Amino acid sequence: MSTTQNQPSTAQGEFDVSVSLPPGIKLPLYMDNHATTPMDPRVLEAMLPYFTDKFGNAASRNHSFGWEAEQAVDTAREQIARLIGATAKEIIFTSGATESNNLAIKGIAEMYRERGNHIITQVTEHKAVLDTCKRVEKQGCRVTYLPVKADGLIDIEDLKRAIDDKTILVTIMFANNEIGVLQPIAEIGKLCHERGVLFHTDAVQAVGKVPVDVNAMNIDVLSLTAHKLYGPKGVGALYVRRRNPRVQIAPQIDGGGHERGMRSGTLNVPGIVGLGKACEIAREEMHEEAKRLTALRDRLKEKLESNLDFVHINGSMEHHLPGNLNMSFVHVEGESLLMGINDVAVSSGSACTSATLEPSYVLKALGLGDDVAHSSIRFGLGRFNTQAEVDYVADKVIDVVRKLRELSPLYEMAKEGIDLTKVQWQAH
Ligand SMILES: *Cc1c(COP(=O)(O)O)cnc(C)c1O
Repeated sequence: MSTTQNQPSTAQGEFDVSVSLPPGIKLPLYMDNHATTPMDPRVLEAMLPYFTDKFGNAASRNHSFGWEAEQAVDTAREQIARLIGATAKEIIFTSGATESNNLAIKGIAEMYRERGNHIITQVTEHKAVLDTCKRVEKQGCRVTYLPVKADGLIDIEDLKRAIDDKTILVTIMFANNEIGVLQPIAEIGKLCHERGVLFHTDAVQAVGKVPVDVNAMNIDVLSLTAHKLYGPKGVGALYVRRRNPRVQIAPQIDGGGHERGMRSGTLNVPGIVGLGKACEIAREEMHEEAKRLTALRDRLKEKLESNLDFVHINGSMEHHLPGNLNMSFVHVEGESLLMGINDVAVSSGSACTSATLEPSYVLKALGLGDDVAHSSIRFGLGRFNTQAEVDYVADKVIDVVRKLRELSPLYEMAKEGIDLTKVQWQAH
């Protein structure tokens, strides 16, 4: 997804956008919390001593510097485990969720090769899962990519049919990073458990936002990352179940045998302390925060829907993350809309690849046409967004969409009730 440039709002293009700046609004304004979150100041405060005074290597066994670092890492393990209903020993530290997803999928494919070579995933996964699946396919695995329905959810019956006697792993994300849709994780976990298949979930967008319980949901392996829950970038974890069943994962990085032999390398102690603190805060505040963000998200949605026609929501609103709103503004070009609101950081439904502007594969998987996908915006509300910000963004989007549509003959025709799919365009 592409994000707007955070430039001061001097260049408004040809549009005279005259929304006055209300009190409490500071520009540029960040509303892209699925891409990354700002760090919570309490997290930074917890991390700081581990850069300076407490700099020990957690693997040093001979002195207090090492013990102190190890103690801090153990505390973080507890904090993370508690948030997802795991035990501390089941937490393996990594450099982030991209690595966690790679370790889970490649490590299981390698370890369970004797038992089978079939993996099941679905089409709207993050690239860290899809590209890893492509890699293991090259190494002899068979991968089934389940489709999603128009609301973004998989059909559990499709999953039932896809499992065969060679299936070793199902990997389905908890919450989607573009459309915020929550997959039926407990149902998937139950099915996998009954069929004796391991279940991995990329829970990056869900952990700390909605309740996650690895036992109640029968999750065997789970990826998470600190920077999507108000922690630092470059640190994450993989939960690996130790009992019922005991999951084995072939290491993908060798050297030293840290992290129960699954992931060697000196631990990033300050980062791990930050991840732990971020999880502790999330556990204490998640419930209230989810209520607040749901209310803010609904306020944004209602303002946009009641002031604009030809808009629609992408992804089931019933099974949805609190802070996510993905909306299409039909007959508006998403990039022009982003330029019109260039002091607000959100993402469009276009992925900037090297040369071309590709519509998002997630939106296309829901059945959206290219132009509707290009007209889509992802709003990602987070801990530090306020109601004043929501109101400012809503007013601004409404204003810019109206101005862009004034210039759009397609919008005029659609408003007059002409079915644009049936128009015979004259060739010149
Ligand atoms: C951000 C994200 C990732 C990648 O996490 P990193 O820690 O940045 O590597 C993986 N999956 C999902 C769903 C994400 O949103």
